[in-house]
Amino acid sequence: MPIISHYRQLLRSDLEAPHVERQFGRGWISGVAALALAISSLFLVIGLLFPAWFTFEKTRSFYQTPAFHLGLLVLLIAAFVMAIISLVLRQNKILGFTSLFLVVLATTLGGANAHSQMAEGSPVYLGMDWFVLNVIFTGILFIPLQLLFPRYPKQELFRFEWREDLFYYFVSTMLVQLLTFASLWPALTLTSHTHWDALRAAISGQWLWLQIVEIMFLTDVVQYWVHRAFHRISWLWNFHAVHHSAQVMDWMSGARMHFMEIVVLRGFTVIPMFILGYSQTALSFYIFYVYLHSTFVHANFGWNFSMLGRYLVTPRFHHWHHGIDKEAIDVNFAIHFPLLDRVFGTYHLPKDEWPTGYGIAGHPVPKGYWNQFWYPFRKK
Ligand SMILES: [Zn+2]
Ligand SMILES: [Zn+2]
Repeated sequence: MPIISHYRQLLRSDLEAPHVERQFGRGWISGVAALALAISSLFLVIGLLFPAWFTFEKTRSFYQTPAFHLGLLVLLIAAFVMAIISLVLRQNKILGFTSLFLVVLATTLGGANAHSQMAEGSPVYLGMDWFVLNVIFTGILFIPLQLLFPRYPKQELFRFEWREDLFYYFVSTMLVQLLTFASLWPALTLTSHTHWDALRAAISGQWLWLQIVEIMFLTDVVQYWVHRAFHRISWLWNFHAVHHSAQVMDWMSGARMHFMEIVVLRGFTVIPMFILGYSQTALSFYIFYVYLHSTFVHANFGWNFSMLGRYLVTPRFHHWHHGIDKEAIDVNFAIHFPLLDRVFGTYHLPKDEWPTGYGIAGHPVPKGYWNQFWYPFRKK
């Protein structure tokens, strides 16, 4: 529909407005905040209406609590107030009116008091709430961090190909159920065929911190070789090239990853954790750490970490992995310990230097989620 695509174009061009139109007091910050809050509220209301279809199983019980209803009400009010501020301050009203419309829509659908319209459960669901919670949480954490300590101070929030990366984020969080199932399946199958109860009891009885360090090390050894295979074997590289097609590094760039790669990489790396029987607490700590860390290493964060960077993977280390420079090809495969790259001869971290750019020379990967999805299956 031409009218919808025209409207989307207008909205997008205001999000990507020139610097002068985005300064404090121009209503852009409040407009963007209003839009993010309004979309989040609407998604959460839809989650309340159809919990068995649109909410993550693990977080579902939380939506019945008074705290959640209060939180959602605050979110809706905040979105409304921000929209009004933007409408008053900003000449271009598209952000303000869009947000206002979404707030009214969310309220009409029941707002914070929306009740489930479903009589029965559903075996399959999409994590619409999971998307909202993830974007809000990582956004609140990493956007200010990037503003305070940027590697590239001129890089915008709505930078080159931000919509593609946000869509990657959207898909991988919406499909949380499928991804969890597919990536745990190999490990759980192996676990059910191995009867190492004494060993598992001994491992889960260790100190918690020791278990976490061991998990980090073992997963990193597996991850290192799977990752290296993705670089060296040409048909696998076509999948991984999608991750490397990012020409800008920030908190959303890590989300760009081919669906098959997510399944394979996670499927392999979780094997040692499950088969060796690490405690649930250790697994939870590790999963939370890796979630924050993988966002962090892609972020536009400018610290050099000269000392720490020798022992733990930092943004500069992983930025070199994404570098477009010749010396950045096939280096720094580790995700936790640069030691692995030193041992296996793929370490590259010149003192205080950063790559001159990101991506793959010649930019062979097409643009857009679906083109990139089919890219590995197409004849080259
Ligand atoms: Zn890579
Ligand atoms: Zn990466």
